[in-house]
Amino acid sequence: MRGLKDKVALVTGAGSGIGLAIAKRLGAEGMQVGVLDINAEAANQAVAQIRAAGGRADAQVCDITSYESVQQAVSAIESRLGPTWALVNNAGWDKPIPFLKTTPDFWQKVVTINYMGPLQMTHAVAQGMVARGGGRIIFIASDAGRVGSTGEVVYSGTKGATIAFAKALARELARKQVTLNCVCPGPTNTPAMDAFVGTGEEGQKIRDAMVRSVPLGRIGEADDYPGLVAFLASEDAAFMTGQTISVSGG
Ligand code: NAD
Repeated sequence: MRGLKDKVALVTGAGSGIGLAIAKRLGAEGMQVGVLDINAEAANQAVAQIRAAGGRADAQVCDITSYESVQQAVSAIESRLGPTWALVNNAGWDKPIPFLKTTPDFWQKVVTINYMGPLQMTHAVAQGMVARGGGRIIFIASDAGRVGSTGEVVYSGTKGATIAFAKALARELARKQVTLNCVCPGPTNTPAMDAFVGTGEEGQKIRDAMVRSVPLGRIGEADDYPGLVAFLASEDAAFMTGQTISVSGG
């Protein structure tokens, strides 16, 4: 993709699943990848994989729910790799619970990780992008945030809020050439999915039901998203901001 080589991309939650696949792809595109994750071991393993494939990457522990941690992490990784060109707000978390059985602690956790996390990362990184005259911010939201998902009510709300946040900030930062766009995956085979539906017979039933609901006849794989993310981070997407794109099998 045009305009990616040697630039710095930060990917949150890059130690696992979709974030790992994105980090590997951006590394393969010649970017320097800042692998940000709350799980140090997962982040180090991701970096080892990117380097083994000939790419450049560095790990940084970061808890996106803490603005202090976010500021420290951005400053530390930028001091090693250089200024951030692209931020991929990927880290997220959910657990399927019917809304009426959820508790205030649960609401707090889901909102803090999925809404406050990307907001705080964006605040910490966008200042520098504006000062340098441009940048790309990409959100891994969810189709749950566009159409709603049973059993994921609070999560759906946070992803919908993230989409609205990205659209609003896209307008505010447009004249500074900082673009913000959202990618909305459908159900995807990742470690989070295993935790979500379980791996036994009951889990398989839920997966089968998901597959039946997807026109293209399968659920997503982590590798279904990195191509679009690389495009959104590239020069080819320079005239595109505030958009929400579903990659969910139709
Ligand atoms: P995953 O659980 O496989 O990976 C998430 C990563 O985020 C992990 O490495 C974890 O350590 C990290 N993380 C969690 N909390 C963090 C925190 N506070 N600070 C920093 N890192 C943290 O998840 P995934 O399935 O790859 O999901 C990635 C993104 O895609 C999420 O935003 C999720 O909401 C979204 N998504 C996933 C699916 C799906 O079905 N898997 C569907 C739609 C959207």
